[in-house]
Amino acid sequence: MTSFRVGIGYDVHQLVEGRALILGGVTIDHELGLKGHSDADALTHAIIDALLGAAALGDIGGHFPDSDERWRGADSVELLRQTVGLLSDRGYSIGNVDSIIVAEAPRMKPHIPAMRVQLADAMRVDSDSVSVKATTDEGLGPIGRREGIAARAVALIYRRENNRDDG
Ligand code: MG
Repeated sequence: MTSFRVGIGYDVHQLVEGRALILGGVTIDHELGLKGHSDADALTHAIIDALLGAAALGDIGGHFPDSDERWRGADSVELLRQTVGLLSDRGYSIGNVDSIIVAEAPRMKPHIPAMRVQLADAMRVDSDSVSVKATTDEGLGPIGRREGIAARAVALIYRRENNRDDG
């Protein structure tokens, strides 16, 4: 029998001067970047939280705390790789991930294929199994005022159970 589990992830980082804008492991040319202890890759963080959530393994802050100097400037795709390792140690495989970036600017569309390749590589799945979408908040609220970029993700994971009672 195969057991399926789903997880949800959300993240937001503030847009500031003097930082790189990195989303889904891709550095995007923009006058502002995301502020954070790591590389502040909100998309990858949302995906990590969705995966951890699906496995009921807590959250990104518990595994990679921002109080820990090891994670200063961390490459979030590397943290994703480590997360996939944690799941795989428990027998979980990744079915698929869907995600959405919420940003007023810059335009994400040209960067999405490269993000999918990076994320799929880190998760050891085909890029067909990784969806990245983008939208704006239509000028409303803090994201609409370009004060930050948010991301949401869902993940489906599965594990073959060796339950003797299954017959
Ligand atoms: Mg984050």
